[in-house]
Amino acid sequence: MAKNFDLSQWARPEMLALKPYTSARDTFTATEGEWTFLDANENPNATAVNRYPDPNQTALKNVIANLRGCNEDQLLIGNGSDEVLDLIIRAFCKPYKDEIIIVPPTYGMYAVLADINSVGMIKVPLDTTFQLKPKEILDAVTPNTKAIFFCSPNNPSGNAFNPDDIQMLLENFDGIIVVDEAYIDFTDFPSWSEKQSNYPNLIVTQTLSKAFGLAGLRLGIAIASSEIIALLKRIKPPYNINSLSQQNAMEALRDTKTVNAQIAESISERKRLAQELNAFSWVVKIYPSDANFLLIKVDDAAKRYKELLALHIVTRDRSSQENCENCIRISVGTPQENNKLIAACKSLAV
Ligand SMILES: *Cc1c(COP(=O)(O)O)cnc(C)c1O
Repeated sequence: MAKNFDLSQWARPEMLALKPYTSARDTFTATEGEWTFLDANENPNATAVNRYPDPNQTALKNVIANLRGCNEDQLLIGNGSDEVLDLIIRAFCKPYKDEIIIVPPTYGMYAVLADINSVGMIKVPLDTTFQLKPKEILDAVTPNTKAIFFCSPNNPSGNAFNPDDIQMLLENFDGIIVVDEAYIDFTDFPSWSEKQSNYPNLIVTQTLSKAFGLAGLRLGIAIASSEIIALLKRIKPPYNINSLSQQNAMEALRDTKTVNAQIAESISERKRLAQELNAFSWVVKIYPSDANFLLIKVDDAAKRYKELLALHIVTRDRSSQENCENCIRISVGTPQENNKLIAACKSLAV
């Protein structure tokens, strides 16, 4: 049975009451035929981009909804998932009063977005195997806690969270739970969006920046109840996705065969990299990964990071993150790039 969730109790009243900006292209949407558009003060001389983009991204939404198996009214498209995450905080959290819970080590943007919006933050670190501590999270909830943010598979550790723990949070926390699935395409765990109808307080975010190879276009999505999506749509900037991004994404998403082959290669390369890196004596531990990167613990992260950099290989030292002392995060590259990494590692002093 679906959980009870009363959006009007959780969203900021001023966002629910907001009268959204109505753009010219919102009022009149026909794009074909003999129409003369004199409504938006555009330059009338045709180039590829002289007209404002579709504010509702209708055609692109149709493609993504088919791809992700959701309805179009359950889908919000943002200028990267970073915009989507920002909209969620602004829709639900009152500045200087409300707060979110995050579970470090986690994606850095949640804290930055909370700070930008003057929203408080409670940190409930993951355990040493980088799994959620659901009881501690629920204990940390206060009357001002509006949302819990986490990513699964997790960045920077790479593992997906135990589904029972996520379910426990969905069932026992009445506010918004944001499951950031930026790396969902690299894991066998199903997307939580499949459970959306049971949990009206769930917002799943995904991105076209990772598996789909479109980081430069800036396209992220939220999948949630049509009620939550309608609220987020009201507060999004009207023309948040430019026309070139909409067009390019439609073309790229038509070719799922290439993307799927690339995902399969990334997963097999991840396995190979883990095996090869494990052989080096200065590699202390390779954490299990459901993503397109590996977190590895080494003898001295600052030293190894610098040595690899001197060989023109750029990794990310994550040592400053909770439970990540001497940890380096390495993205899975092409087979050739991974060979370069292994060769560079072989040349490092023991
Ligand atoms: C890379 C990443 C994103 C992607 O953000 P975009 O703005 O869509 O590029 C989101 N969440 C996590 C956890 C990530 O690692």
